[in-house]
Amino acid sequence: MMVQYLEIKAQHPGALLFYRMGDFYEMFFDDAVAAARALDITLTKRGLHLGEEIPMCGVPVHSHENYLSRLIRLGFRVAICEQTEDPAEARKRGGKAVVRREVVRVVTPGTITEDGLLDARSNNYLAALAEVGGALGLSWLDLSTGELTLQPVERPALPAALARLAPGELLLSERLTQQPELFELWAEWRDQLTVQPNARFDSENGRQRLLDLYGVGTLDAFGSFSRAEVAAAGSLVDYVELTQKGRVPRLDRPRRLALGAVMEIDPASRRNLELSRTLTGEKRGSLLGAIDRTVTGAGARLLAAHLSSPLTDPVAIGRRLDTVAYFVEQGGLRADIRAHLGRAPDIERALSRISLGRGSPRDLAGIRDGLGRARDIRDTFPAEALRGALEPPLPPGLLDALRGVRVPGDLVATLTAALDADLPLNARDGGFIARGYSAPLDELKELRDDSRRLIANLQARYAEATGINTLKIRHNNVLGYYIEVTAQHGDKLMAAEQRGTYIHRQTLANAMRFTTVELSDLERRVAEAGDKALALELSLFEDLTQAVLAKAEEVASTAQALALLDVATALADIAVECRWCRPVVDDSREFRLVRGRHPVVEAALVATASGPFVANDCDLSDANRLWLLTGPNMAGKSTFLRQNALVAVLAQMGSFVPADAAHIGAVDRLFSRVGAADDLARGRSTFMVEMVETAAILNQATPRSLVILDEIGRGTATFDGLSIAWAAVEHLHEVTRCRALFATHYHELTTLAAKLPSLACHTMRIKEWQGDVVFLHEVAAGAADRSYGIHVARLAGLPSTVISRAEEVLAILEAGDQGSAVTRLADDLPLFSAPVRRAPQPAPALPEPPALAALKSVSPDELTPRQALEELYRLKGLL
Ligand code: ADP
Repeated sequence: MMVQYLEIKAQHPGALLFYRMGDFYEMFFDDAVAAARALDITLTKRGLHLGEEIPMCGVPVHSHENYLSRLIRLGFRVAICEQTEDPAEARKRGGKAVVRREVVRVVTPGTITEDGLLDARSNNYLAALAEVGGALGLSWLDLSTGELTLQPVERPALPAALARLAPGELLLSERLTQQPELFELWAEWRDQLTVQPNARFDSENGRQRLLDLYGVGTLDAFGSFSRAEVAAAGSLVDYVELTQKGRVPRLDRPRRLALGAVMEIDPASRRNLELSRTLTGEKRGSLLGAIDRTVTGAGARLLAAHLSSPLTDPVAIGRRLDTVAYFVEQGGLRADIRAHLGRAPDIERALSRISLGRGSPRDLAGIRDGLGRARDIRDTFPAEALRGALEPPLPPGLLDALRGVRVPGDLVATLTAALDADLPLNARDGGFIARGYSAPLDELKELRDDSRRLIANLQARYAEATGINTLKIRHNNVLGYYIEVTAQHGDKLMAAEQRGTYIHRQTLANAMRFTTVELSDLERRVAEAGDKALALELSLFEDLTQAVLAKAEEVASTAQALALLDVATALADIAVECRWCRPVVDDSREFRLVRGRHPVVEAALVATASGPFVANDCDLSDANRLWLLTGPNMAGKSTFLRQNALVAVLAQMGSFVPADAAHIGAVDRLFSRVGAADDLARGRSTFMVEMVETAAILNQATPRSLVILDEIGRGTATFDGLSIAWAAVEHLHEVTRCRALFATHYHELTTLAAKLPSLACHTMRIKEWQGDVVFLHEVAAGAADRSYGIHVARLAGLPSTVISRAEEVLAILEAGDQGSAVTRLADDLPLFSAPVRRAPQPAPALPEPPALAALKSVSPDELTPRQALEELYRLKGLL
């Protein structure tokens, strides 16, 4: 056995080997040590190998999914090695022959399909990146749903594309891992990377694989793909074959995402905006968490996918919005559909498991029920609606979705007739075919059950014949059926006159066990009938599976249609309840929101009854495309900035938006630098992170982009920070010319408004009332006059001595020139006796503009009026 084990293990060096032995998957050697530690299970020993004891541990087959999921989550790959012949067969080959075993599948993070291992509400992508002739191609598939997509990517957009997909596993060629400019990116995706030999990314092989997979002569019908894209998709298919041991699941036709088809959002902006996860990694509190009202797993997955990849084509966006708008108006219909959907099982994932030969009776029932619900939903629409003959016509998106519902009635009827009411988790134990579906099966089951009944009757007969009332017929796995009597009665059955009938099997402390020829005969009949019934059930299961696969296309398109309907009705639901409006999205460069709100903050305020959310307008049309927003901390600057970005995301994913009116010229790239967090893992300070992110924005934003910058330059000395912020504003205005919102504490920046025509200054309104400051959360034109930092410090509970001292210091600083004020403070007003007194530091100064220097050298008293005029011209010339 060890020889066989080592042989199989040698073929799967990178994976833990789950080696099937009876009811357990056993692991040996280093695998056992690693798994025992990871799973916190007992490490034992078994036999010797090269004179050393072999470490071993195991997990029960019936509960292995749980262990498997923990191992996969910890980053292990697991090769599942099953017994592929009956032990009886092996025995026939000779006394010591080892049962044949084979690895039937390698489980990796990107190739799991079990519900127990997957999150029902999010996609798990297996992605591959390939490079051919310098061009990059990205491809990804969700094995559990069968979708396959290809996309060209440009190098700078690679981080954004990966962040959008968040693949569970990413296949890369060795060559790509060696490119120094990508080292940092790979460090980020370290836990998901699976490095493959370069040869697996050959574009010609890839093309051939795809042609074979889809049974076509050319890929042109699916779109025109670059060689890099084909290489990436080919390597995916190759990898699936490798890990699924030759079984490739049903895959949808490949879809192509063109360059620029989705709004590009880099990883930092995605994190900052908390689109799908909050900064702490939870869905709750994110935009997705706030808007997700889907009622099916497939709907939730589609919504998450739409949210992470907002579109850029106004026509495609308009189609989605039409469908949502339709359901906003049709409240009754929406409620009916959602009620049906709520009872629809996840047919996408059931179909995928069935196509991988991993389906269960419950998956078949899922297909039956899901198709049934789909039919109910379709029937809620009048028949003429489907023909497009209804007035007013249904929006095209909805019509397409309804046409996608294709219910093969014969399949539903077959499954309904075949499946029992109560279904086991696995097919292997049988017991899922309904009575009346197969006459031969019913007969075998009757025979089995009759024999069981006869056995039960025997008990009464034997008790009477022997006069032992306590005689019982029992069953266990070792002896099978046996007669059991207490020890004191045992001798009676051993007595000479009974010996011919009762055959002794076993003596225990308190009991004795016997059998009879009759009992053995009946038992054999039970077993034979049972075996035959099981074999027949399994073959019926295979037939049903084939029946489903024959209709795979219909089932898959129905599944997609249900997911689309779920997303559209869920978005309509929130739009109605939260009074969202339909945005106008077009090719202009407008960005106009009337009374916009932040969907997450507003929901939180409502949930905690802590007051209404104050709506604010925003207008970034060309005359004032760059807003400078000042105002104290806690006044609502970040909230305002983010809400505008979130509205753009919502509008372009095809959702209504939290505003009274919205007009958005499609945004190609969205950048957000909000707040700052140290990135200690990569050894970068807050300031460095901020600068890296700002650099990315200034380098990559286009005139169609939307940029949100919050407090650039805060992490360094005042003048450094101010100068960086100053230059960044100028660059955005003059060079990038994108729509931007810029929140800052540097009031000095507002002077730029005089120089930059498209810069508009806004501030968060506050009210001073009886010495207190009230935040109104209103955005108004103008600039803030003060920061009110001390006020916020008081709110935060700083000791009152510190607050009053800070007020003194502020008064002194505001009164005069900062450099000398700091010196004076250090010298004159020690609140505490300072143990070390630092030498006064001269304040850093901005380089003096030449006109100012010239002006300083002028002595007006010594000038004639004519000289004064000349001087004025000279000064002007210096500006
Ligand atoms: P800033 O960025 O100016 O420091 P935030 O945007 O973080 O301020 O807002 C601080 C808090 O004020 C938020 O957590 C929220 O509770 C509240 N707030 C912000 N904007 C609004 C608004 N428009 N209406 C109501 N409350 C708001």
